[in-house]
Amino acid sequence: MGGVITRDTSVVIIGGGPGGYEAALVAAQLGATVTVVERDGVGGAAVLTDCVPSKALIATADYMSDFEVAARLGVRLQDAEGDEVSDAVALADTVNHRILDLAAAQSCDIQRSLEQVGVTVLRGAARVAERGLVVADLADGTTHELAAEPVRIDDGDVGAELGSDEGGLVAAGAAAEDRDSLAWQGHDG
Ligand SMILES: Cc1cc2nc3c(=O)[nH]c(=O)nc-3n(C[C@H](O)[C@H](O)[C@H](O)COP(=O)(O)OP(=O)(O)OC[C@H]3O[C@@H](n4cnc5c(N)ncnc54)[C@H](O)[C@@H]3O)c2cc1C
Repeated sequence: MGGVITRDTSVVIIGGGPGGYEAALVAAQLGATVTVVERDGVGGAAVLTDCVPSKALIATADYMSDFEVAARLGVRLQDAEGDEVSDAVALADTVNHRILDLAAAQSCDIQRSLEQVGVTVLRGAARVAERGLVVADLADGTTHELAAEPVRIDDGDVGAELGSDEGGLVAAGAAAEDRDSLAWQGHDG
């Protein structure tokens, strides 16, 4: 097991799903030094378990339905020996591997697009240790302390400052298990 590594960053985002990675892209494009900590894979539930897998399953089911109406449309399916094929069978292993491959490819694409704009992506579970300090336990056994600076959006014309003073964003999705460890301690506003 490694020791604690302190990492300079200005915005820490817990969760690399659509909420987290879109925020990271925007923050990086606005000039922030951004770190995303993601436990399961960039893209989040949307890519790994929800949108992408469900659309792939729907496409498979649609294709099987097409087979059912093929005969009525005058299409006769036959195998290599010329025998009529009456049943379409979905091979669960093949479907599953295709979904996992699609999800992995999309997750890699999103991670690459984050890294291209300078976002650091850490693989591990993060928690808010105290206000402005996120601790990430990474998959490689190291622990990283990420001190987030205040985030301020300065509207030059009006002179008003908007934004939070924590420098972090929790985008851990609806399925986050330990909500208490993701709350900013001492938040008074
Ligand atoms: C079956 C299904 C189909 C869907 N299809 C669509 C669709 O077609 N189009 C659409 O727009 N939406 C769709 N959705 C909704 C979409 O999946 C969600 O709106 C989206 O995933 C929410 O994004 P998020 O970033 O808030 O959370 P998530 O995608 O859940 O991402 C949160 C991330 O935070 C990470 N995380 C949590 N806790 C920690 C921690 N302590 N440390 C580090 N990382 C952590 C998780 O690993 C996860 O990757 C679908 C949902 C379902 C269930």
